[in-house]
Amino acid sequence: LPNFSSFSGGPNICPRCNKTVYFAEKVSSLGKNWHRPCLRCERCSKTLAPGSHAEHDGQPYCHKPCYAVLFGPKGHIFKSLNNQSGKTIQ
Ligand SMILES: [Zn+2]
Ligand SMILES: [Zn+2]
Repeated sequence: LPNFSSFSGGPNICPRCNKTVYFAEKVSSLGKNWHRPCLRCERCSKTLAPGSHAEHDGQPYCHKPCYAVLFGPKGHIFKSLNNQSGKTIQ
């Protein structure tokens, strides 16, 4: 077996699928290299354009609606509503 571990953390390992990213399929964002189809929103899986998307905790998100819903001011309201367990909201 080739010793892939010696390449771990290298600049050409896709953070999404942990496979080598070759030049022809490479997109760079968040300081890492991704496969083009792997650079997608964590929440809605929409493919993102490198450099023009939101980021949280090293993960890519689209600005709207996902980042705004999850981490924007409305997101906190959204979460607190969801946390009202024991009551059925219709
Ligand atoms: Zn990938
Ligand atoms: Zn999204």
